Amino acid sequence: MSAQRPRIVCQFSCGAASAVATKLALAQYGATHDVQIINAFLANEEADNRRFAQDCEAWFGRPITVLRDEKYGADATEVFRRERYMKNQYGAPCTKILKRRLLDTWKQPGDVMVFGFTAEEVGRFEDFLERNPDRPSIAPLIERGLGKEDCKAMIQRAGIELPLMYRMGYENANCIGCVKGGEGYFRAIREDFPEQFEALCVIQDDLGSGSYLFRNRDTNVRFSLRDLGEGPVRRNEKIPSCSFFCEMAEADIIASA
Ligand code: SF4
Repeated sequence: MSAQRPRIVCQFSCGAASAVATKLALAQYGATHDVQIINAFLANEEADNRRFAQDCEAWFGRPITVLRDEKYGADATEVFRRERYMKNQYGAPCTKILKRRLLDTWKQPGDVMVFGFTAEEVGRFEDFLERNPDRPSIAPLIERGLGKEDCKAMIQRAGIELPLMYRMGYENANCIGCVKGGEGYFRAIREDFPEQFEALCVIQDDLGSGSYLFRNRDTNVRFSLRDLGEGPVRRNEKIPSCSFFCEMAEADIIASA
């Protein structure tokens, strides 16, 4: 293996797309480059994500390096409590602190980042490349025209059971009660995970209206999760999966807007 070759860095987020992107990057670069697979442990993810990571590790034939935040106990709710907000126009503090900061401590100049953007997300990847011409990046799923459903099918054909969140009908394996979710998603979380839902309500009770995620469409007044009314329950609501790199891409897009 040549020392001059850059590291190929795959971010594995316990989602189907990042798993397939990692597998493809290993197939393409595994014999010639130093391919690293990294994952940020999050205390708020459903427990079956860890089983999925282990199964994928066996599928990859390579170890996954698990990074874990110490300051906040890798816990998004602890971030909300201590940073005193849950989401603002620059995004969610949990992904920034528990994922991006960890990556910053680990990355090396010249690393080539492997994005798990799917064929449906080609626009997001193009935006990222345009704004980051000096940041080497590849998107194996887009190169091969693979969509989200293709990735799920490939995982299943490899004999790996998808994480429980997918099997329950959710769009991805993000934290339980991901703050990027909409009203329909949170109605589903309220039904399926009442304890985690209540924990987020308690945080909003403490932080007040500045932390509320939703607005009443008629009055434009913000309201808390506790006041979320009845309505459509949407487990499959489209929420961006949470990764080091997607967050980075979104932050760059917002910063340059
Ligand atoms: S999955 Fe959602 S709640 Fe969890 S760290 Fe990412 S943005 Fe935050």
